[in-house]
Amino acid sequence: MIKKFLMTPGPTQIPSEVLLASAQPIIHHRTGAYSDLFARVNENLKYVYQTENDVISFASSGTGAMESAVVNLCSPGDSVLIASCGKFGERWRDLSEVYGLDYDYREYEWGTPVVPSDIEQALKDKPGIKVVFVTHSETSTGVVNDMQAIGAIVGKSGAVLVSDSISGLGSSEIRTDEWQVDVVVAGSQKALMIPPGLAFVSVSDKAWGMVEKSTLPKYYFDWTKARKALAQSKPTTAFTPAVSLVVGLDAALAMIRAEGLEKLFQRHIVLGRATRAAVRGIGLELFSPDDDSCSSVTAVRVPEGIDDNQLRTLTRDRYGVQLAGGQGHIKGKIFRIGHCGYYNYTDIIVAITALELSLKELGYQVELGSGVSKAQAVFGGEMI
Ligand SMILES: *Cc1c(COP(=O)(O)O)cnc(C)c1O
Repeated sequence: MIKKFLMTPGPTQIPSEVLLASAQPIIHHRTGAYSDLFARVNENLKYVYQTENDVISFASSGTGAMESAVVNLCSPGDSVLIASCGKFGERWRDLSEVYGLDYDYREYEWGTPVVPSDIEQALKDKPGIKVVFVTHSETSTGVVNDMQAIGAIVGKSGAVLVSDSISGLGSSEIRTDEWQVDVVVAGSQKALMIPPGLAFVSVSDKAWGMVEKSTLPKYYFDWTKARKALAQSKPTTAFTPAVSLVVGLDAALAMIRAEGLEKLFQRHIVLGRATRAAVRGIGLELFSPDDDSCSSVTAVRVPEGIDDNQLRTLTRDRYGVQLAGGQGHIKGKIFRIGHCGYYNYTDIIVAITALELSLKELGYQVELGSGVSKAQAVFGGEMI
């Protein structure tokens, strides 16, 4: 019997509470019952976002919400700054290219974070920059950028800060209001513990000011339409929502509220810590930074003589553990263990067990238990 453990940074494992909630007969979306549900979901989303701003939801994958940020904030030819350190940072560049923006693309070595003081300098050098796009948790490398420092810098300028927190929201803390992050993009299939298909954006007053002047074309992703539907006494969406996913989200957010944000972030920090200790214990080299900022994804270098695809196929087909590969130019060179969302010590112990056994089978010198024991040592001290 194979029991499956999805250890990828999206999609992630879904709690049975969520699956059962989503399996209920569908309700109509233009009813009081739906509005009550939607209002509760919005309140709880604001709790996770740590914001008083509007949080808009779309039936789309996360990229849809990223695109919505570009088309609602910008006009053709606008100057924007993109600070990137991985595959998902490139997406801001691709979107800026498609929509004809005048973009300055700064790339940092993959596996290292964006340097906030460079953003300060760039904003000084070019005061016309309207939007700064940053990836919060760079899922392709495991790096988590310092949104607090970046928010403090951009907050002093006339520019609006947009954070891709698709894999970060709910696993790596982001204090939207306190850290002055104007637009925070999130997706359903990562730390929010529900299947793919929903995307969210929070929009600050400063950002709404920019939305009023934006002339890029938009229809489905028009924030103004969404805000109007949200502001009604019975809140709703402009178009048919993904009702079953919203019902699932309601259950997931109830779980997040029950755990509380402080414990939730601490759990993710410990998951990262245990995973890194285990990886080092096996004798593998980390690709992601070896510090507690790394709480959503752990990226590991594929050791010499081991084929990444073979390794991940073995962990999946023999031991039921699905790991993620590398993306872009680091494909084949790293593999990733996702631990954002519905994860605790059991998942990490299983994943590391599968990794040790698979590496051994492929001829890598590994002492069984060398990683698991290190993870146990971390969990033993900090039960989650
Ligand atoms: C998953 C992810 C995306 C892409 O989201 P889709 O839902 O596949 O559109 C974008 N950015 C980051 C940081 C992600 O982790």
